[in-house]
Amino acid sequence: MKVKVVTRILEANDRLAEENRKRFQDAGVYVVNLMGAPGAGKTTLLERTIQALKPHMKIGVIEGDIVGSDDAERIGALEVPVVQINTGGACHLDANMINEVLDELPLRDLDMLIIENVGNLVCPAEFKVGEDMKMMVLSVAEGHDKPLKYPLMFRESSALVLNKIDLLPYMNTDMKKVRNDSLALNPNLKIFEVSCTTRAGIDTWAQWLRELKS
Ligand code: MG
Repeated sequence: MKVKVVTRILEANDRLAEENRKRFQDAGVYVVNLMGAPGAGKTTLLERTIQALKPHMKIGVIEGDIVGSDDAERIGALEVPVVQINTGGACHLDANMINEVLDELPLRDLDMLIIENVGNLVCPAEFKVGEDMKMMVLSVAEGHDKPLKYPLMFRESSALVLNKIDLLPYMNTDMKKVRNDSLALNPNLKIFEVSCTTRAGIDTWAQWLRELKS
């Protein structure tokens, strides 16, 4: 019985996600659903990515958090259009939440919209929001067991950004295992290694993202 209810929720969400997707297509905006655990560095990667791409394209952002507007304020400081969604407890963004804020963004002026999901390695991967692609950030401090423990997120993502590589000398993280397990789940996954602190790898990552739009 419970399974049926969940299925219906996901079906309703998929229909609305498809409506969002058409709206994004009409506006000519490429949409990225950015996922990852709390503290992985999603907002900081977003800041570095915007700094790298701002001279080349117009980026807008939707920030998803359970409460608060700290992340939207950080992104707003970079002078790009940003809307904060507070889910009020829900552990993910869904298509309806995105639909409700689209009028607040200048969609037709944007080349790319990046949606930072609520920090969580589970349910954000289950709910489409109308995106062109999903991606995830995994900090090397989270350990090398995450791909096998949270496989759906790795399967659903087109890109995996391994963040905080400047911390590797202090960690026992087996990066080869992270890569091998991730690619076993998703052979098409593009993997990038970056440090948002030292900015290592940011240009390579940002260039790849930029080319998705063209
Ligand atoms: Mg954040």
